[in-house]
Amino acid sequence: MLRIHSTPLLGRVSTLLSEPCKKICGNMSSGYTSGKKLRVLVDMDGVLADFEGGFLKKYRSRYPTEPYINLDDRRGFWVSSQYGRLRSDLCEKAISIWESKDFFIDLDPLPGGVKAVKEMAEMENTDVFICTSPIKHYHHCPHEKYAWVEKHLGHEFLEQVILTRDKTLITGDILIDDKPDILGVEAKPTWEHILFTACHNKHLTVNPSQRRLNSWSDDWRAILNSKRQ
Ligand SMILES: [Mg+2]
Repeated sequence: MLRIHSTPLLGRVSTLLSEPCKKICGNMSSGYTSGKKLRVLVDMDGVLADFEGGFLKKYRSRYPTEPYINLDDRRGFWVSSQYGRLRSDLCEKAISIWESKDFFIDLDPLPGGVKAVKEMAEMENTDVFICTSPIKHYHHCPHEKYAWVEKHLGHEFLEQVILTRDKTLITGDILIDDKPDILGVEAKPTWEHILFTACHNKHLTVNPSQRRLNSWSDDWRAILNSKRQ
């Protein structure tokens, strides 16, 4: 039985179909190039997973007598830089938190993110991928990122995970990401960067042409629809 209608994620469909059918689905998935399918790339930390909240909780637990920065006072993308300005040795202490086992898997989902991504994945003519950059201290992070996706979005969603240190190389229509400047070897990425508002970027004055998604309660559907042809 062909179960395409009940299984919109390509990877899941592929596992259920015979080889000829996989070829058909493969061709269907290339609709992006003919302008039919919208490809949405969604960042993980600070967009789906509460990196900042998880960091502060574990930092205060490990270093209860050290100074810390309230989330309202966070400025700038790099947590370790701001902690280093507070006191130079706090930079390394901050880094030690996200390099520890269970940091990434323990991150709580940000409100509405998981639900929104699941809804996107069910939309007609829409491909959604989780596009995330693992830290270079790789002992725990890449594994835990996959585990987080499986835990919160389901096993089938592992097909949609892209781990890359350079998101400019990935093609898509939209990249929803909390990092204000996303740079890489590709000077002109194919995607429009939608800045996801986070404690560290909410005070930032951005280029007027750059659109924001203030939270998952904001109208993300309208942003997707604005990119459809
Ligand atoms: Mg992020």
